[in-house]
Amino acid sequence: MSINGTVENKGRDIKTLYEILSEQAIEIIKNLEIGVYVVLPERQILFWNDKAREITGYTYDEVVGMYCQDNILRHVDDAGTELCFNGCPLLETIKDGNIRKARVYLRHKSGYRLPVKVEILPITKNNEIKGAIEFFQEDTEELNLLEELRRTREKALICPLTEIGNRRYTEQVLEDRLEEMKRMGSTLGIFFIDIDDFKHINDTYGHPIGDIVLKMVARTLTNIMRPYDFLGRWGGEEIVAIVPHVKQEELFDLGERLRKLIALSNFKITQGRLGVTVSIGATLSKEDDTVDSIIERADQMMYESKRKGKNQVTVYSD
Ligand code: GH3
Ligand code: MG
Ligand code: MG
Repeated sequence: MSINGTVENKGRDIKTLYEILSEQAIEIIKNLEIGVYVVLPERQILFWNDKAREITGYTYDEVVGMYCQDNILRHVDDAGTELCFNGCPLLETIKDGNIRKARVYLRHKSGYRLPVKVEILPITKNNEIKGAIEFFQEDTEELNLLEELRRTREKALICPLTEIGNRRYTEQVLEDRLEEMKRMGSTLGIFFIDIDDFKHINDTYGHPIGDIVLKMVARTLTNIMRPYDFLGRWGGEEIVAIVPHVKQEELFDLGERLRKLIALSNFKITQGRLGVTVSIGATLSKEDDTVDSIIERADQMMYESKRKGKNQVTVYSD
C-alpha cells in the first residue's frame, strides 16, 4: 500500500483501532516511552507511537496502513535470518495467543541495524484474537556490548599513548594502500619520522616527560594531516606517515611542513619550555614495493637526515 493510501485510510484505521483496544489503552500506548505498534491479524499496522518513530526514524504516516510483510523494518535475528518470512514472532503470537519476548535487529530508516528488545502480546476480545501489540526498545545491553567490541578492536589497533595507529595496524594499512595504489596505478608517499636526541630528553627530564613529548609530536602531526592520510607509531620514537595522492616533487615541501611545525611546538616544564626536532626521510612508492622495501628506503633517507646534522628532510630519488 502506498504512503498516500495510508494517509487516506487513516480515519478507517483509527476506527478499527478503537474496535480492538479501549480508548484508555490507546491513550496509554500513545504516550508510552517505549516503541509500540499494533497490528491486525493479517499483520497490517494500525498504530505507531511517537517513541517508535524516535527509535526507527519512520513516521506514523509512513508506517500505518503498511503490512508487516511489506518488510519495512526488516527485523532480523542475530543469525541474520529475516524474521518477517521465517518465524515472525508477531505472526506466532497471532496464531497461538502466547506472549513472546525476543531480541532482534531492526532496520533504522537511515539503513543501519539497531538491536532492540521486543515483547509481543495478543489482543483478544471474547476469546478471539483481534490482533497483536508489539512493545520495543533499544537493547542497551547489546549496544553496550557493541560499543565495548568497538573499543577492544580500537585498542588492538591504536597506540594508547600517542593515539595513532600501532605498528601492526600501520603495517596492515600500508599493505592495503600499496595494493590499492597498484590497482589504481597511482603512488603513495611515505614519511619516516624519528625524534632527534630523544634518549637525551628521557635522561635529562625523565621518562614521563619523554612520553609527553611523544604525545605532542603525534598530536601536532595528527592536526596537520588530511583525513585520508594515516599516521602510525612504528617504534619507540619513530612515526610513519602514509600520504596518498602525492607527487615526487611535493614530498620535500610536505616533509618540511611536518618538520617545521614540530620544531615550533613546545610545552612548558619547570625548567622552561621544552621542544624537539625530528629527522625525516621520505620516498614515493614504486610499482614493485612491499611494506619492507618502502619502509627501508624511507628509513635510510631518515638516517641520511641524521647524518647531515638532524632536523632535516631527505627525499629519495632514483
Ligand atoms: P637520534 O637523534 O639519533 O634519533 O637519537 P635518539 O636518542 O633519539 O635515538 P635512540 O634510538 O638512541 O633512543 C631512542 C630512545 O627512545 C630510547 C628509548 O628509551 C626512548 N623511548 C622509546 N619509546 C619510548 C616511550 O614510549 N617513551 C619514552 N619516554 N621514551 C621512549
Ligand atoms: Mg629511533
Ligand atoms: Mg631518535
